Amino acid sequence: MPADQQPVTRTYTVRAIDRAAGQLTLDFVTHGDTGYAGPWAMAAQPGDVAVIRGPGGAYAPAADVDWHLLAGDLSAMPAIAAALEALPSSAKGVALLEVESEADVLDLTAPEGVEVSWLVNPDTDDVAFLARAVDAAAWPTEAAKGAVQVFAHGERESIKAVRKVLKQREVPREAISISGYWARGRTEDAFQAEKRTPVGKIED
Ligand SMILES: Cc1cc2nc3c(=O)[nH]c(=O)nc-3n(C[C@H](O)[C@H](O)[C@H](O)COP(=O)(O)OP(=O)(O)OC[C@H]3O[C@@H](n4cnc5c(N)ncnc54)[C@H](O)[C@@H]3O)c2cc1C
Repeated sequence: MPADQQPVTRTYTVRAIDRAAGQLTLDFVTHGDTGYAGPWAMAAQPGDVAVIRGPGGAYAPAADVDWHLLAGDLSAMPAIAAALEALPSSAKGVALLEVESEADVLDLTAPEGVEVSWLVNPDTDDVAFLARAVDAAAWPTEAAKGAVQVFAHGERESIKAVRKVLKQREVPREAISISGYWARGRTEDAFQAEKRTPVGKIED
């Protein structure tokens, strides 16, 4: 279709898929009455129709990694939850989930050696909150340092701050999956368009 006739699209994570049952599970953050997908999900009824295209994305947790760090906000929770379920039972690491309120906390399944922490931050202006938690995580000591894998996604400014910490900790770029999933005050269309401008870029 010509660009000006294409429908509005939004990007969501496959939280789970049951091919036998023909069931696809998506988890939507609802964030008031702005936008398309959040309000749609809030009002969705059995029988409503959604047109789905995909999937994309390449990340999968590696089995041969000594320590996993998964960090994000509620928009990345479906991806983090799916990754935790895909990890081998012997996996070690931490999952740090930033949420605005206690009401956002969910019960996730994770290997025994992966500590899941829900971090409540009602101050949405404090974009360095998640980065501070990443920095304060129980990183393997220098001596015990083996292969580390990082998955960090969420609000763009918060993820930029996390990227700085990963740089300081000298995590190799190829061991990191990192990106903004959305940006405060931007629709997804504006957020995607800004990726081509300085404000939209996460440092490499
Ligand atoms: C690869 C990828 C996977 C994603 N997976 C998921 C997922 O599984 N579940 C999920 O909920 N989101 C996910 N997201 C984020 C989702 O695409 C965005 O939040 C999207 O902007 C929501 O569209 P909307 O129509 O509800 O709001 P938009 O029309 O895009 O935005 C309207 C307003 O709402 C604000 N807004 C948008 N998202 C949020 C939010 N999460 N919290 C608070 N305010 C917000 C915007 O800043 C804007 O001001 C993913 C994004 C990417 C790139």
